[in-house]
Amino acid sequence: MFESLSDKLEHALKKLSGQAKINEINIGMAMRDIKRALLDADVNYKVTKNFVEQVRKQALGEEVIKSVSPAQMIVKIVHDELVKAMGGEQKDINLKTSRMPAVIMVAGLQGSGKTTFTAKLANLLKKKGRAPLLIAADVYRPAAIEQLKTLGAQIGVPVFSIEEKDALKAAKQGIEFAKQNSKNVAIVDTAGRLQIDEEMMAEAERLKRELSPEEILFVVDSMIGQEAVNTAKVFNDRLDFDGVVLTKMDGDTRGGAALSIKTVVDKPIKFLSQGEKVDDLDIFYPERMAQRILG
Ligand code: GDP
Repeated sequence: MFESLSDKLEHALKKLSGQAKINEINIGMAMRDIKRALLDADVNYKVTKNFVEQVRKQALGEEVIKSVSPAQMIVKIVHDELVKAMGGEQKDINLKTSRMPAVIMVAGLQGSGKTTFTAKLANLLKKKGRAPLLIAADVYRPAAIEQLKTLGAQIGVPVFSIEEKDALKAAKQGIEFAKQNSKNVAIVDTAGRLQIDEEMMAEAERLKRELSPEEILFVVDSMIGQEAVNTAKVFNDRLDFDGVVLTKMDGDTRGGAALSIKTVVDKPIKFLSQGEKVDDLDIFYPERMAQRILG
């Protein structure tokens, strides 16, 4: 698979050993390798360029500590900058509210893994002692509603749906149902299309306006590369969402989308979906993702 960035740097920076300072000349090779590794990990070009510049500035003039090699030092700088660029701390979803239930709205393109994630999140919250309700607001696709029902049955979480093709009505009635049945979190699975279109965006905006969700999560397939960043930007411009869910992270990806999206939309990544099973959901930790990108 990939040669890890740490290994590449060890190799490239051999000549640096014995030198006391990192300077413009001896750092050039390392920067090229870092750039290459980030691009290989699917980080957006502009993000990569800025990131490498940041690392270069940090590294220049650093005294090489006797106990570590220059390569190790640069790897450490890259690691720390990656963690910082991805938000530093792990960010939880917001469920704090005085009303019942707390509302989580889930948005994203069709095929992104939105419905699967919705069920995974309900499963996770249930395990944490919450009483979730899943609401099928993707009213245009009967298959999506059926899929949610199947997943709900698997995890023992009720699914609310209506016959009419009215997403707002489905969501509002679902929230009312949650209230009456002592469910303290309502997770609304909204409609997705294969591509961004005005109607979908307008509907999502309307849902946000009418429901005032405590949390809006944007779901995106990490395998679609640069498109992930563009899609995130469009959704964020319209919805000003609270967090990102990167799906299909079990695929052949180093996870550069995490760095790109965080940099471009400046919203925290909150979850990673790493498989098709309802348990394959992980909380996002910038530290772990930095390790993964570094290899
Ligand atoms: P939606 O159209 O956005 O609601 O997407 P779905 O939840 O229906 O997912 C689309 C396809 O991707 C389905 O076949 C899912 O089983 C699959 N899928 C969803 N999440 C993941 C994931 O994290 N990893 C993998 N490998 N497949 C996933």
